[in-house]
Amino acid sequence: MSKYTTPFCADLHCHSTVSDGLLAPDVVARRAKERGVTLWSLTDHDELAGQVLARQTAQEIGLDYLSGVEISVTWAGKTVHIVGLGVDPENASLTEGLRITRSGRSDRARRIGERLAELGMPGAFDGASKLAGNPELISRTHFGRYLHQAKFCPDVQTAFDRYLHDGGPAHEPMRWAALDQAISWINHAGGAAVIAHPGRYEFTDTQFDAFFAAFKELGGKGIEVITGSHHPGQYQTYAGVARQYGFLASCGSDFHGPGEGRYDLGSLPPLPSDLKPVWDALV
Ligand code: AMP
Ligand code: MN
Ligand code: MN
Ligand code: MN
Repeated sequence: MSKYTTPFCADLHCHSTVSDGLLAPDVVARRAKERGVTLWSLTDHDELAGQVLARQTAQEIGLDYLSGVEISVTWAGKTVHIVGLGVDPENASLTEGLRITRSGRSDRARRIGERLAELGMPGAFDGASKLAGNPELISRTHFGRYLHQAKFCPDVQTAFDRYLHDGGPAHEPMRWAALDQAISWINHAGGAAVIAHPGRYEFTDTQFDAFFAAFKELGGKGIEVITGSHHPGQYQTYAGVARQYGFLASCGSDFHGPGEGRYDLGSLPPLPSDLKPVWDALV
Protein backbone atom coordinates (compact mmCIF):
# COMPACT_ATOMS: atom_id res chain seq x y z
CA MET A 1 0.00 0.00 0.00
CA SER A 2 1.53 3.31 -1.08
CA LYS A 3 1.84 6.04 1.54
CA TYR A 4 1.03 8.63 -1.14
CA THR A 5 -2.28 10.36 -1.79
CA THR A 6 -4.64 9.34 -4.57
CA PRO A 7 -5.33 10.62 -7.17
CA PHE A 8 -1.61 10.41 -7.65
CA CYS A 9 0.59 12.57 -9.86
CA ALA A 10 4.38 12.49 -9.52
CA ASP A 11 6.69 15.11 -11.06
CA LEU A 12 10.24 14.31 -10.05
CA HIS A 13 12.33 16.51 -12.32
CA CYS A 14 12.25 20.31 -12.55
CA HIS A 15 14.36 23.41 -11.98
CA SER A 16 14.31 26.69 -10.05
CA THR A 17 16.36 29.91 -9.98
CA VAL A 18 18.89 27.94 -7.91
CA SER A 19 20.04 26.53 -11.28
CA ASP A 20 18.57 27.37 -14.68
CA GLY A 21 14.87 27.62 -13.87
CA LEU A 22 12.92 30.89 -14.01
CA LEU A 23 10.95 30.59 -10.74
CA ALA A 24 12.09 30.41 -7.11
CA PRO A 25 11.78 27.03 -5.34
CA ASP A 26 8.69 28.05 -3.32
CA VAL A 27 6.98 29.38 -6.47
CA VAL A 28 7.69 26.10 -8.29
CA ALA A 29 6.22 24.21 -5.30
CA ARG A 30 2.98 26.23 -5.42
CA ARG A 31 2.72 25.85 -9.17
CA ALA A 32 3.19 22.07 -8.87
CA LYS A 33 0.42 21.90 -6.26
CA GLU A 34 -1.95 24.07 -8.32
CA ARG A 35 -1.35 21.88 -11.35
CA GLY A 36 -2.32 18.69 -9.52
CA VAL A 37 1.10 17.27 -8.63
CA THR A 38 0.91 15.18 -5.43
CA LEU A 39 4.53 13.96 -5.18
CA TRP A 40 7.17 16.48 -6.20
CA SER A 41 10.94 16.80 -6.37
CA LEU A 42 13.01 19.88 -7.21
CA THR A 43 16.10 18.66 -9.09
CA ASP A 44 18.32 21.66 -9.74
CA HIS A 45 21.53 21.12 -11.70
CA ASP A 46 24.54 20.29 -9.47
CA GLU A 47 23.11 22.24 -6.51
CA LEU A 48 21.10 21.51 -3.37
CA ALA A 49 20.63 25.12 -2.18
CA GLY A 50 16.90 25.10 -2.99
CA GLN A 51 16.06 21.96 -1.04
CA VAL A 52 15.17 23.51 2.33
CA LEU A 53 12.74 26.03 0.83
CA ALA A 54 11.28 23.43 -1.55
CA ARG A 55 10.59 20.94 1.23
CA GLN A 56 9.33 23.59 3.65
CA THR A 57 6.89 25.02 1.11
CA ALA A 58 5.76 21.55 0.03
CA GLN A 59 5.02 20.72 3.67
CA GLU A 60 3.07 23.96 4.17
CA ILE A 61 0.83 23.37 1.18
CA GLY A 62 0.35 19.60 1.62
CA LEU A 63 2.53 18.30 -1.20
CA ASP A 64 4.59 15.13 -0.69
CA TYR A 65 8.25 15.85 -1.33
CA LEU A 66 11.41 13.94 -2.26
CA SER A 67 14.69 15.86 -2.21
CA GLY A 68 16.48 15.90 -5.53
CA VAL A 69 19.40 16.97 -7.68
CA GLU A 70 20.42 16.56 -11.34
CA ILE A 71 24.14 15.87 -11.63
CA SER A 72 26.16 16.68 -14.78
CA VAL A 73 28.28 13.66 -15.70
CA THR A 74 30.79 12.94 -18.46
CA TRP A 75 30.63 9.36 -19.75
CA ALA A 76 32.50 8.14 -22.85
CA GLY A 77 33.28 11.76 -23.68
CA LYS A 78 29.62 12.82 -23.69
CA THR A 79 27.47 14.66 -21.16
CA VAL A 80 24.75 12.69 -19.42
CA HIS A 81 22.56 13.74 -16.50
CA ILE A 82 21.96 11.60 -13.43
CA VAL A 83 19.11 12.54 -11.09
CA GLY A 84 19.47 11.74 -7.39
CA LEU A 85 16.14 11.34 -5.58
CA GLY A 86 15.57 11.04 -1.84
CA VAL A 87 19.10 12.21 -1.03
CA ASP A 88 20.08 13.78 2.29
CA PRO A 89 20.88 17.36 1.19
CA GLU A 90 23.34 17.71 4.09
CA ASN A 91 25.42 14.69 3.13
CA ALA A 92 29.10 15.74 2.99
CA SER A 93 30.13 13.42 0.18
CA LEU A 94 27.31 14.69 -2.03
CA THR A 95 27.63 18.40 -1.19
CA GLU A 96 31.42 18.34 -1.68
CA GLY A 97 31.10 16.43 -4.96
CA LEU A 98 28.57 18.96 -6.24
CA ARG A 99 30.73 21.90 -5.15
CA ILE A 100 33.60 20.54 -7.25
CA THR A 101 31.25 19.80 -10.15
CA ARG A 102 30.07 23.45 -10.11
CA SER A 103 33.54 24.89 -9.79
CA GLY A 104 34.49 24.94 -13.47
CA ARG A 105 31.33 26.75 -14.58
CA SER A 106 32.54 30.36 -14.23
CA ASP A 107 35.61 29.90 -16.44
CA ARG A 108 33.56 27.93 -18.92
CA ALA A 109 30.96 30.70 -19.02
CA ARG A 110 33.70 33.24 -19.81
CA ARG A 111 34.88 31.03 -22.67
CA ILE A 112 31.33 30.70 -24.02
CA GLY A 113 31.09 34.51 -23.85
CA GLU A 114 34.33 34.83 -25.82
CA ARG A 115 33.12 32.42 -28.48
CA LEU A 116 29.85 34.28 -28.87
CA ALA A 117 31.74 37.59 -29.11
CA GLU A 118 33.88 36.10 -31.90
CA LEU A 119 30.64 35.08 -33.61
CA GLY A 120 29.48 38.71 -33.49
CA MET A 121 27.42 38.63 -30.29
CA PRO A 122 29.19 40.70 -27.62
CA GLY A 123 28.22 41.08 -23.96
CA ALA A 124 26.99 37.53 -23.48
CA PHE A 125 29.02 36.69 -20.37
CA ASP A 126 27.74 39.76 -18.50
CA GLY A 127 24.26 39.23 -19.90
CA ALA A 128 24.08 35.58 -18.89
CA SER A 129 25.59 36.33 -15.46
CA LYS A 130 22.86 38.89 -14.76
CA LEU A 131 20.21 36.30 -15.63
CA ALA A 132 21.70 33.61 -13.37
CA GLY A 133 20.07 33.44 -9.93
CA ASN A 134 23.09 31.53 -8.60
CA PRO A 135 26.54 32.91 -9.50
CA GLU A 136 28.02 29.40 -9.22
CA LEU A 137 25.58 28.10 -11.74
CA ILE A 138 25.76 29.96 -15.02
CA SER A 139 24.44 27.49 -17.58
CA ARG A 140 23.97 27.43 -21.32
CA THR A 141 20.30 28.14 -20.63
CA HIS A 142 21.23 31.60 -19.31
CA PHE A 143 23.22 32.26 -22.50
CA GLY A 144 20.24 31.12 -24.56
CA ARG A 145 17.96 33.51 -22.69
CA TYR A 146 20.46 36.36 -23.13
CA LEU A 147 20.76 35.73 -26.88
CA HIS A 148 16.98 35.83 -27.12
CA GLN A 149 16.57 38.97 -24.98
CA ALA A 150 19.38 40.79 -26.83
CA LYS A 151 17.58 39.89 -30.08
CA PHE A 152 20.44 37.84 -31.47
CA CYS A 153 17.98 34.91 -31.74
CA PRO A 154 14.20 34.80 -32.12
CA ASP A 155 13.86 32.38 -29.18
CA VAL A 156 15.93 30.33 -26.72
CA GLN A 157 15.60 27.12 -28.72
CA THR A 158 17.10 28.81 -31.79
CA ALA A 159 20.08 29.90 -29.66
CA PHE A 160 20.67 26.24 -28.80
CA ASP A 161 20.07 25.05 -32.35
CA ARG A 162 22.48 27.60 -33.83
CA TYR A 163 25.20 28.06 -31.22
CA LEU A 164 24.87 26.31 -27.87
CA HIS A 165 24.01 22.66 -28.63
CA ASP A 166 26.60 19.96 -27.82
CA GLY A 167 29.35 20.42 -30.36
CA GLY A 168 27.88 23.77 -31.50
CA PRO A 169 30.06 26.79 -32.34
CA ALA A 170 29.65 28.35 -28.87
CA HIS A 171 29.58 25.15 -26.83
CA GLU A 172 32.50 24.71 -24.47
CA PRO A 173 33.00 21.04 -23.62
CA MET A 174 33.31 20.34 -19.89
CA ARG A 175 34.71 17.46 -17.91
CA TRP A 176 31.86 16.94 -15.45
CA ALA A 177 31.71 14.32 -12.67
CA ALA A 178 32.48 10.70 -13.51
CA LEU A 179 29.54 8.27 -13.56
CA ASP A 180 30.88 6.22 -10.65
CA GLN A 181 31.37 9.38 -8.56
CA ALA A 182 27.85 10.70 -9.15
CA ILE A 183 26.23 7.35 -8.32
CA SER A 184 28.37 6.90 -5.24
CA TRP A 185 27.60 10.43 -3.90
CA ILE A 186 23.87 9.75 -4.37
CA ASN A 187 24.09 6.32 -2.72
CA HIS A 188 26.13 7.71 0.20
CA ALA A 189 23.41 10.33 0.65
CA GLY A 190 20.78 7.57 0.90
CA GLY A 191 19.14 8.33 -2.43
CA ALA A 192 18.41 6.53 -5.67
CA ALA A 193 20.37 7.36 -8.84
CA VAL A 194 18.17 7.71 -11.92
CA ILE A 195 19.22 8.17 -15.57
CA ALA A 196 17.69 11.46 -16.74
CA HIS A 197 16.06 11.72 -20.20
CA PRO A 198 17.95 8.82 -21.88
CA GLY A 199 16.28 9.65 -25.18
CA ARG A 200 18.38 12.81 -25.44
CA TYR A 201 21.74 11.08 -25.60
CA GLU A 202 23.31 10.61 -28.98
CA PHE A 203 24.67 7.13 -28.32
CA THR A 204 24.82 4.17 -30.68
CA ASP A 205 22.90 1.04 -29.58
CA THR A 206 26.17 -0.48 -28.39
CA GLN A 207 27.00 2.63 -26.34
CA PHE A 208 23.50 2.64 -24.82
CA ASP A 209 23.89 -1.00 -23.78
CA ALA A 210 27.30 -0.26 -22.27
CA PHE A 211 25.94 2.82 -20.49
CA PHE A 212 22.92 1.05 -18.97
CA ALA A 213 25.08 -1.91 -17.90
CA ALA A 214 27.74 0.37 -16.35
CA PHE A 215 25.09 2.43 -14.55
CA LYS A 216 23.55 -0.70 -13.05
CA GLU A 217 26.90 -2.25 -12.16
CA LEU A 218 27.92 0.97 -10.34
CA GLY A 219 24.77 0.94 -8.18
CA GLY A 220 22.37 3.05 -10.25
CA LYS A 221 18.68 2.24 -9.62
CA GLY A 222 16.33 3.95 -12.02
CA ILE A 223 15.57 5.50 -15.36
CA GLU A 224 13.24 8.27 -16.52
CA VAL A 225 10.65 6.68 -18.77
CA ILE A 226 8.16 9.53 -18.99
CA THR A 227 9.90 12.90 -19.26
CA GLY A 228 9.28 16.24 -20.91
CA SER A 229 12.46 15.59 -22.88
CA HIS A 230 11.01 12.48 -24.56
CA HIS A 231 8.52 12.51 -27.36
CA PRO A 232 5.64 10.12 -26.62
CA GLY A 233 7.04 7.56 -29.07
CA GLN A 234 10.05 7.14 -26.77
CA TYR A 235 8.02 6.22 -23.67
CA GLN A 236 7.71 2.58 -24.77
CA THR A 237 11.39 2.40 -25.74
CA TYR A 238 12.57 3.33 -22.25
CA ALA A 239 9.83 1.34 -20.53
CA GLY A 240 11.41 -1.60 -22.39
CA VAL A 241 14.85 -0.62 -21.10
CA ALA A 242 13.49 -0.45 -17.54
CA ARG A 243 12.06 -3.98 -17.91
CA GLN A 244 15.21 -5.35 -19.54
CA TYR A 245 17.62 -3.98 -16.94
CA GLY A 246 15.31 -4.18 -13.92
CA PHE A 247 15.43 -0.39 -13.44
CA LEU A 248 12.93 1.47 -11.28
CA ALA A 249 10.92 3.94 -13.34
CA SER A 250 10.73 7.69 -12.86
CA CYS A 251 8.89 10.59 -14.46
CA GLY A 252 9.20 14.36 -14.55
CA SER A 253 8.41 17.34 -16.72
CA ASP A 254 11.93 18.89 -16.66
CA PHE A 255 10.04 22.17 -16.23
CA HIS A 256 12.30 25.26 -16.35
CA GLY A 257 9.71 28.03 -16.49
CA PRO A 258 6.42 29.24 -17.96
CA GLY A 259 6.67 29.39 -21.74
CA GLU A 260 9.85 27.32 -21.89
CA GLY A 261 9.91 23.69 -22.93
CA ARG A 262 7.02 21.58 -24.06
CA TYR A 263 5.60 20.44 -20.72
CA ASP A 264 4.49 22.23 -17.60
CA LEU A 265 4.52 20.66 -14.13
CA GLY A 266 2.14 17.75 -13.71
CA SER A 267 1.17 17.53 -17.38
CA LEU A 268 2.69 14.18 -18.34
CA PRO A 269 0.88 10.81 -18.51
CA PRO A 270 1.38 8.22 -15.72
CA LEU A 271 4.05 5.52 -15.88
CA PRO A 272 3.11 2.19 -17.50
CA SER A 273 1.44 0.27 -14.67
CA ASP A 274 3.70 -2.80 -14.79
CA LEU A 275 6.84 -0.77 -14.01
CA LYS A 276 8.06 -0.41 -10.44
CA PRO A 277 8.09 3.31 -9.62
CA VAL A 278 11.22 4.73 -8.02
CA TRP A 279 9.24 6.34 -5.17
CA ASP A 280 8.16 2.92 -3.87
CA ALA A 281 11.82 2.23 -3.12
CA LEU A 282 12.24 5.57 -1.33
CA VAL A 283 9.39 5.37 1.20
P1 AMP B 1 24.81 23.26 -19.12
O1 AMP B 1 24.65 22.44 -17.88
O2 AMP B 1 25.30 24.64 -18.85
O3 AMP B 1 25.58 22.56 -20.18
O4 AMP B 1 23.35 23.51 -19.70
C1 AMP B 1 22.49 22.43 -19.90
C2 AMP B 1 21.07 22.93 -19.95
O5 AMP B 1 20.80 23.53 -21.19
C3 AMP B 1 20.09 21.77 -19.86
O6 AMP B 1 19.78 21.48 -18.54
C4 AMP B 1 18.90 22.29 -20.60
O7 AMP B 1 18.14 23.10 -19.73
C5 AMP B 1 19.52 23.17 -21.67
N1 AMP B 1 19.76 22.46 -22.95
C6 AMP B 1 20.76 21.61 -23.26
N2 AMP B 1 20.71 21.21 -24.54
C7 AMP B 1 19.63 21.83 -25.06
C8 AMP B 1 19.03 21.85 -26.37
N3 AMP B 1 19.55 21.16 -27.39
N4 AMP B 1 17.92 22.60 -26.53
C9 AMP B 1 17.40 23.33 -25.50
N5 AMP B 1 17.92 23.36 -24.26
C10 AMP B 1 19.01 22.63 -24.04
MN1 MN C 1 18.43 22.82 -17.44
MN1 MN D 1 19.00 17.31 -17.98
MN1 MN E 1 16.68 18.92 -16.01
